[in-house]
Amino acid sequence: MKKNVRKAIIAGNWKMNKTRPEAKALLEELKPLVADVKGVEIVACVPFTNLETALAATEGTNIKIGAENCHFEKSGAFTGEISADMLAEMGVEYVVLGHSERRQYFNETDETVNKRTKAALAAGLKPIVCVGELLWERECNITEEVIARQIKLDFFAISAEDVKKCVIAYEPVWAIGTGKTATAEQAEEVCAFIRAQLAKLYSEDVAEAVTIQYGGSMNAGNAEELVSKTNVDGGLIGGASLKAPDFTTIIKAAENG
Ligand code: PEP
Repeated sequence: MKKNVRKAIIAGNWKMNKTRPEAKALLEELKPLVADVKGVEIVACVPFTNLETALAATEGTNIKIGAENCHFEKSGAFTGEISADMLAEMGVEYVVLGHSERRQYFNETDETVNKRTKAALAAGLKPIVCVGELLWERECNITEEVIARQIKLDFFAISAEDVKKCVIAYEPVWAIGTGKTATAEQAEEVCAFIRAQLAKLYSEDVAEAVTIQYGGSMNAGNAEELVSKTNVDGGLIGGASLKAPDFTTIIKAAENG
């Protein structure tokens, strides 16, 4: 299977932005801009408080809605947390897991990312699992070791059938929210490495089927080159997903990529 048969996914990660009226306004602006897009899966991953608004605003459109995290237990005494079942029941399709901001500020580990991924899959959600190296790790030339470890641990004991339902976002931590984008060659190199790891852990077929995105300061100006790469199947977009025209440009770049 080649890139041209893996559907690109462009997902916005809104992070902790937008009140409900602002969320509705952004999606209303986006809808007509992307209404004719066919070859790209468009996803908006929004704060929990915006999920209902976002689902209503995008009903019957080609925009899918995702959450930005979920807990790994089904229910119980976990004050402040949201379960995968709660998201699935609402009609949410995707969930971002293991984002570097969760790992950095909320002590998430590969072990909890693995548990969350299993919980999301069990609830029928499509996990977008984020991996990526710190600047220090790249400088020490251990990017591949870091990524191989994350892939092995984050997908531990997840079946081949289930891993095919996952999206992997390669997000070098040094490129997130910094304006420093990985070059298209760096993005391609690591996305290809992730695919090779999947082939080793599962099979060539699984490796070729999984969507691998790049994320990290992707914007309207650099998206085209990034998504043109063979192993880059779209992007996870933070800042630029908050502006409908910029997000649209990225989506259209992936349609042509
Ligand atoms: C992200 O939040 O996943 C991200 C890639 O952010 P930004 O595009 O702002 O770097």
